[in-house]
Amino acid sequence: MSKRNKEIRQCQPCTACCDGWLQGVIGGIPIYPGKGCPDSTDKCENYENRQLDPCRNFDCAWIVENSLLPEWMKPDNSKAIVILEKWSWNGYPVDLAVPVGKRIPPRTLNWLMEHAEKNQRLLIYSEQILENGEYTKRQEFTGYGPPAFQRDLLEWKKDGKIFEGL
Ligand code: SF4
Ligand code: SF4
Repeated sequence: MSKRNKEIRQCQPCTACCDGWLQGVIGGIPIYPGKGCPDSTDKCENYENRQLDPCRNFDCAWIVENSLLPEWMKPDNSKAIVILEKWSWNGYPVDLAVPVGKRIPPRTLNWLMEHAEKNQRLLIYSEQILENGEYTKRQEFTGYGPPAFQRDLLEWKKDGKIFEGL
């Protein structure tokens, strides 16, 4: 688990990872886009008793110590939750960006792509799929990287396993 740089950065008022944009089960209750954790207001209402995983263990890329993400990339502002090195591909780290909302805004996505290029990283980002105006819990995943990575991503998508629970 990464160590948070608490002296410099604080989550509040961001609650993006508690609001269902990352799917999970909190206290036995599934959370997903459109249905956040019942304890999430403008802060965690169950902070002292929050569960270990994911609540205590989760650190987004903005909050980790020595984060390379600039201040404006805080998820409640950038509208993307970034998870560093979610996977690896041929020895390169693959970062994941999930939207806070339907899709990641262009400014944020551009920054993520430039960051991936400059730092020899690969990126997978998603868009929430809606039907009849409602979130479906499904996402479309897109890769940013060389053609061989794109080909492998197609295989991963067919298999689907690595994207389960996102
Ligand atoms: S998304 Fe990041 S900054 Fe926002 S509440 Fe979660 S860990 Fe904190
Ligand atoms: S219990 Fe607290 S930390 Fe965990 S998801 Fe809910 S609001 Fe977030």
